[in-house]
Amino acid sequence: MKKEQKANTSSLSLLSVAGLEPYKEAKGEEYMNPKQLEHFKLILEAWLAQLKDEMGKTVSHMQDEAANFPDPADRATQEEEFSLELRARDRERRLIKKIEKTLKKIEIDDFGYCESCGVEIGIRRLEARPTADLCIDCKTLAELREKQMGK
Ligand SMILES: [Zn+2]
Repeated sequence: MKKEQKANTSSLSLLSVAGLEPYKEAKGEEYMNPKQLEHFKLILEAWLAQLKDEMGKTVSHMQDEAANFPDPADRATQEEEFSLELRARDRERRLIKKIEKTLKKIEIDDFGYCESCGVEIGIRRLEARPTADLCIDCKTLAELREKQMGK
C-alpha cells in the first residue's frame, strides 16, 4: 500500500497517468503562462479521475464481499481489512478535495506560488506534487516545526 502511494505521487507516474511529457519551457517563457497552467490542469484532472475511479472500485468490491464470511473470525479479519481500506479512502477523499482546490487556483490564476512567502514553487516540484502550496524551503520549515511539536 505504501509503495503504491509513493508511485502515485511521483512525477513520472502522474505525468504518465495524464499521458504527458515533462513540461519544456521555451526560453524566456513566463512562469505560469496559460500553456503551463493548462499543463497542470491536465495533470490534476487526470489524477482526480484516477482517484475517483479507484474509490468506485473499492466500494463495489466491499459490497461484493461483505456477505461472504459466515465465520465470525473471518468476519473480524475482514472488518479489519475494511477499516484499513476505509482509512485509505478517507485519505483519498482529502486528496481529492485538495486537488479540486488546486484546480480552482488554476482557474483564478493563483497557481504555482508559495502560500507562505510568495516565491515560485517551480515547474519540476509541481510536476512531482501538483498540489504543493508551499515552496521547498517553507515546506521543509513547516515539517521541522511539526516534528518539534511532536505531531
Ligand atoms: Zn515559501
